[in-house]
Amino acid sequence: MSETKNPNYFVLVNEDNRLPNGFEDTVELIPSENIAGNQFQIEKKTYDAFCALREDVLKNDGIQTVLLGSYRTIEQQEKIFKSNFEKFGLDYAKKYVAKPGYSEHHTGLAIDVGILLEGKLYRTKEELLSVDYLFEIIQKKLPRYGFILRYPRGKEAITKIAYEPWHYRYIDSLSIAQEITDKGMCFEEYCQKV
Ligand SMILES: [Zn+2]
Repeated sequence: MSETKNPNYFVLVNEDNRLPNGFEDTVELIPSENIAGNQFQIEKKTYDAFCALREDVLKNDGIQTVLLGSYRTIEQQEKIFKSNFEKFGLDYAKKYVAKPGYSEHHTGLAIDVGILLEGKLYRTKEELLSVDYLFEIIQKKLPRYGFILRYPRGKEAITKIAYEPWHYRYIDSLSIAQEITDKGMCFEEYCQKV
């Protein structure tokens, strides 16, 4: 017997909103591995939607995308926070790394997408920002697959996160993803409205 899990695809997780207790129990995670051999888990429908997006941009735009990451446990986020704190100091860690429990990656519904271009995998923040022109093409197609750009330009004061052309959030509704995109809203603004 397989149990159908149905997470709240509209859950808001950010600096002020912690991952709700028990949320992870509602998510069906599946294992995935990218071409660089990185293994991770991702929510099932989010993965299916990413595969469809990947195929679309490869076929129609010649852009080769690579899933860099998705679900993170609170323990993994603690490690990321700690290593940034040790390398760059507390101010940097606080500014650039979500506190454990407050990262959207805990939901399994967020993905980080890298790009394989002429044999090189673009994956660091600097590398990814350098191919923003490719992400702009990808971003136009996100709502067709139920994704939104989670940290758009110009919304930093609301999201508290700098523009991340690579971080997409699955919300399981093509029409609402389209509405959010067309209106140029960030997810916080949409959640306030409803
Ligand atoms: Zn991310």
